[in-house]
Amino acid sequence: MKFEAHLEVINPLASKKGYRKSMSILCQISLAKDPNSSKCYLIVNDNKKPSPDKYRISDNVDKIYCKFVHEGKASIVLKEPNFTLAIQKANVNQLKVFLKIVHIATTSNDFSQELDKIKSKLQAESSCPGRCIKPLVKEMPSTTPQFKKTITSLVIKSRDEYLSNYRAIISQNMMIKTSISTIPTLNLLKLVINNCGLKTIDTSVFEFTQLNHLDMSNNKLSILDNFKLGTLVELNLSQNQITNIGHNIYVPKLINLDLSHNQLEYLDQNFCINFRSVAKLRINNNKIRAVSNKFGDYMQHLKYLYANNNHLVNLPFSFSHLRMDTIELNDNPFEFLIFSNNKTDKNEASFPSLVELCARNVVNKKIKYGLGDIPKTLIDFLDTHIDCVCGLSCFNYNFRLTVMFDLNRIAKSFSYITINGVSDNQLPLKVYLCSCKCYMKYSKFRSV
Ligand SMILES: [Zn+2]
Repeated sequence: MKFEAHLEVINPLASKKGYRKSMSILCQISLAKDPNSSKCYLIVNDNKKPSPDKYRISDNVDKIYCKFVHEGKASIVLKEPNFTLAIQKANVNQLKVFLKIVHIATTSNDFSQELDKIKSKLQAESSCPGRCIKPLVKEMPSTTPQFKKTITSLVIKSRDEYLSNYRAIISQNMMIKTSISTIPTLNLLKLVINNCGLKTIDTSVFEFTQLNHLDMSNNKLSILDNFKLGTLVELNLSQNQITNIGHNIYVPKLINLDLSHNQLEYLDQNFCINFRSVAKLRINNNKIRAVSNKFGDYMQHLKYLYANNNHLVNLPFSFSHLRMDTIELNDNPFEFLIFSNNKTDKNEASFPSLVELCARNVVNKKIKYGLGDIPKTLIDFLDTHIDCVCGLSCFNYNFRLTVMFDLNRIAKSFSYITINGVSDNQLPLKVYLCSCKCYMKYSKFRSV
């Protein structure tokens, strides 16, 4: 059966927090039965959403309020999600039959048999006994066009919407996924959740395994970790309070990453490894003092870098390995103005240690090793090697030097005005040198 009525879906979570209730909307209400599980579902279609809302009735009704059924009003309280479906302005007779079926669906073990009894009774009461009564509860084949539609994009712009809509959609998605395998579930490709004051990313986001665009800008996120979305192409986390980016991140297809207007201070080697597929990186308006020495080695796909308004005094020499289209480095305290000072910082040890010498040999001669050969601590140590300009690697024993590098060699266009208001094309790069020989050779030039 299908009938028209005004329906308000009341989310107690939103009401408790003082958010505005949802509106009462004119819609078509019907009942459908899943052929596989024989469970009964309430289908609500308001002709605005791309697919109708579905609420499980079988074993899922907490209470039915029907005191005002003669006025066309009734309420059904569901268990999961804990919503109240408030029906108003319905045809009284249709509402009575509807409530009867809902009652049967929640209490009867043999739902189909009970339905047949009602149908026969209705036929007997009808003025034309031979008339065919439409099925009270139709079957829900997966071929029905309305079920083929899937939601591919969802935009949540306020906390009110997040609490009332997002939670409802997620719980509905989970419910359908677990109970009726034949019905396509939500297939979000794009998800936008802005201005909701979120402090963490809800794990339900990772249920959308086809997601390729996630925008959670303008929230209160402080940590980015345990984040796995294998299909994600665009990630916008700007205007949050992120201070930490953890190691447990898996976004192998990410191209566009926006981390601007956060509280980041350092981009470590794991950042470079986890985001090495990124072509456009926005890290402007953070507090970044330094980036990993391996930045340029891992971020080989980088074409656009926006790093304005940070605390950078220099960049690692690996930056010279990049070939970018655009780089913006305005408003950073780069130290090229004091270039004439001796910035060399010779390591205190006069001779490299035995461990250093052995490790250099392993790395420079490309000797293969694994967990079965040497302890994990030694493997971690070998991973910290620094590349000298000469091409060889070193570890703790090194000489540091700042050299000036022409930005024209790494970017087609650049914007580079320091906080002192001086514009130049010479970028200070931090260079590590492996030996006295290299130091003598490169310190003469101070540019490479
Ligand atoms: Zn060297």
